[in-house]
Amino acid sequence: MNDVLEGLERYMNPGLARTYRFMGLHSAEDTAAGAVVVDADGVEYLDCAGGYGVFIQGYRHPRILRAAHEQLDRMPLSSRVLVSPQQVELAQQLAELTPGDLTYSFFCNSGTEAVEAALKIARGSTGRATIISTVGAFHGKTYGSLSVSGRELYQAPFQPLLPDVIHVPYGDLEALGSMMSENVAGVIVEPIQGEGGVIVPPDGYLAGVRRLCDRYGAAFIADEVQTGMGRTGTLFAVDHEGVVPDLLCLAKALGGGVVPIGAVVGRPWVWKLFEENPLIHTSTFGGNPLACRVASEALAVTVDEDLPGRARALGQSFMSELKTLQERHPDLLTDVRGRGLMIGLECRNAGVGGMIMAELFQRHVLAVYTLNNERVIRMIPPLVIEPSQLEQVLDALAQSLEAVEPVKDELL
Ligand code: PLP
Repeated sequence: MNDVLEGLERYMNPGLARTYRFMGLHSAEDTAAGAVVVDADGVEYLDCAGGYGVFIQGYRHPRILRAAHEQLDRMPLSSRVLVSPQQVELAQQLAELTPGDLTYSFFCNSGTEAVEAALKIARGSTGRATIISTVGAFHGKTYGSLSVSGRELYQAPFQPLLPDVIHVPYGDLEALGSMMSENVAGVIVEPIQGEGGVIVPPDGYLAGVRRLCDRYGAAFIADEVQTGMGRTGTLFAVDHEGVVPDLLCLAKALGGGVVPIGAVVGRPWVWKLFEENPLIHTSTFGGNPLACRVASEALAVTVDEDLPGRARALGQSFMSELKTLQERHPDLLTDVRGRGLMIGLECRNAGVGGMIMAELFQRHVLAVYTLNNERVIRMIPPLVIEPSQLEQVLDALAQSLEAVEPVKDELL
């Protein structure tokens, strides 16, 4: 087992290997099913990190696996000369399931690529340069996405990044309004900031962003890479406010926990860019038949099993139990917040968070902090998780908090 960590250290990322050791994460993953990951020694872990939001339908959902096997046997990658029916079917499904007149899809392989495409489409279709984003946002780590992300730590070594990017405080319509002008190509917003620490904006925020974009002719880009596919209790998080963005970015759970895929879905007015030049933005592997067939099945499973409804129901009881634990340990947990099964536990500081995560791991629960806010431990389990498994998570968390209590003075 330690060989894997040694290999990580020697051949990949020594610093990351040290972090694994520090957290007591010595085990190598081996198999997984539903909400459970099994390590090479056969130890089972309940996964509340869900591959950072990938496993909405759980690991190895039987229907999605079957679709993958069938497509693998038929044609996994595209000739890219003939039309791919799997691509067209997925695009039609997305047009039907996404709100309003979101109609056209471009397919890629990851979240950051979906954001890159959206930024280019916003600029290309408006002929304007400025992109407005939010402080604390996370949109990916390639250059464009990194430029609109909102954390200095990940940006500093790579300056200069994309010019004409403005960051305004998240959830603050007045601040956004003060920066809007006829130079703004697009406003990119996560409906709930995930990596920023599971930040839920005030009611009416998304509708307000929509109004401001309409007033200035800018494209509203909703980054639903993490919030999409039912995570927050509706299929897309913009559905909570009945808002139709101009561009909707998806990835993570679109691939059904089996194959990577990203997508950006757009309204007709922004898609005129592709009419002028159909090859203006392309990707060799983007929207390959295997990924598209799997994504179609993942969407069908999400709808057929009413996973958004499950997120709502399970999220409500889980959140209230978590709040009870917070009340019992106010020095360790300062807030519990979120929507559906996208929940953040805000710890007094990053040290407390690290201790709680390590204790959870000892009790075979996988949980990780949010990338742009180390004080927040995210709870984003697969939506197929059983209520009894959530009970186990709560028991493990209760014990973990008890275990940290005696040493808390050193950490606070
Ligand atoms: N956008 C959001 C909201 C995300 O949460 C993430 C990843 O966590 C990304 C974009 C980037 O996705 P990827 O890691 O697939 O590039």
